[in-house]
Amino acid sequence: MTESRKSHRFDTVALHAGLGDDPTGAVAPPIHLSTTYSRRPDGELRGDFVYSREGNPNRRALETALAQLEGGAHGFAFASGLAAMHALFQTLDPGDHVLIPEDLYHGTKVLLTGPLSRWGLEVSVVESGSLGAIERALTPRTRLVMAETPSNPQLFTTDIEATARIAHAAGAQLAVDNTWMTPVWQRPLELGADAVVHSSTKYFGGHSDVMGGAVVTADGGPTSERLLDIQAHAGAVPSPFDCWLLRRGLMTLGVRVRAQSRTAERLARFLLEHPTVEWVGYPGLESDPGHAVTRRQATGFGAMLSFRVSGGFDGAARFASRVELFTCATSLGGVESLLEHRALVEGPDSKTPDDLLRVSVGLEDPEDLIADLSAALVP
Ligand SMILES: *Cc1c(COP(=O)(O)O)cnc(C)c1O
Repeated sequence: MTESRKSHRFDTVALHAGLGDDPTGAVAPPIHLSTTYSRRPDGELRGDFVYSREGNPNRRALETALAQLEGGAHGFAFASGLAAMHALFQTLDPGDHVLIPEDLYHGTKVLLTGPLSRWGLEVSVVESGSLGAIERALTPRTRLVMAETPSNPQLFTTDIEATARIAHAAGAQLAVDNTWMTPVWQRPLELGADAVVHSSTKYFGGHSDVMGGAVVTADGGPTSERLLDIQAHAGAVPSPFDCWLLRRGLMTLGVRVRAQSRTAERLARFLLEHPTVEWVGYPGLESDPGHAVTRRQATGFGAMLSFRVSGGFDGAARFASRVELFTCATSLGGVESLLEHRALVEGPDSKTPDDLLRVSVGLEDPEDLIADLSAALVP
């Protein structure tokens, strides 16, 4: 497939983007482990690559696919989601002001208050999903507004288009962490966001066996130039094998996420009806406060949900100890269903309700998952 045929639909792009014909006829792309690339006697490079930190065929295939799947200009692959986030924050200058939502991937908060605190960014935390809170928190120094929708782990919804408008009016950019929805369902750049960030560790890899992160930018402006510089010269890059695994993961992204999301919706409806479940966070439920906005800005609702059981912290701990099919582990987006009692892992500063259980719905038969939940929900 030639790169110029941009009209292909999502699953076709996921299969073919960035993968040219291999001269050996190999159908599966080869892994290029070489760290360096040769020059002719006159100093001219023989191919497109110089040194693997700056680029290699496996990373290029991955980045090309990511950019096309998110509808952006440039894809930048990093060694983890937080390395991608770190790079994005480092495109800012010390003294710049950043807005982050209160309910946000825990590690992003730890990054900002820990290692990045010495970078000198001014960070304000705003109520998740509240456009008014964002407007009130903006200052003339605000350069970046971060959004996560739905948010982790409380599933708050943020209106991407409205947030982009507010940020742009104040001279700031909007970056959306799109890890949970994936571009299968939600393409923030088409809604006005300037950058999309991913933990590729999750749905892109899809099998809980590779770490990765990505930033996709809407245009080739200064943020892209800085990202390119940071990626090449700070060097938090994924290995060729990691890029290969991630590129392979993208090939099944659509079928996985659609099937997982279908099951998630069934589980959410089952939980909503259950007498010992006090709350279910899933934007696909008509009763969810974010339902209407999510319907407008996304084509599906994702495969992540959270719920609260009766009995407080102990009730949630009891439930987590009873499930058999759901593995109790952090992370998400793999083919196997995972469950996590968030308060247990976030520690005492956590704002997460202490009876909240977060579920990453996998590809098991939905009937078996419902039976497992049902058996664990006895009071
Ligand atoms: C996991 C995750 C991250 C961090 O990614 P790593 O690959 O673990 O570094 C960031 N954002 C969200 C929403 C995540 O789920």
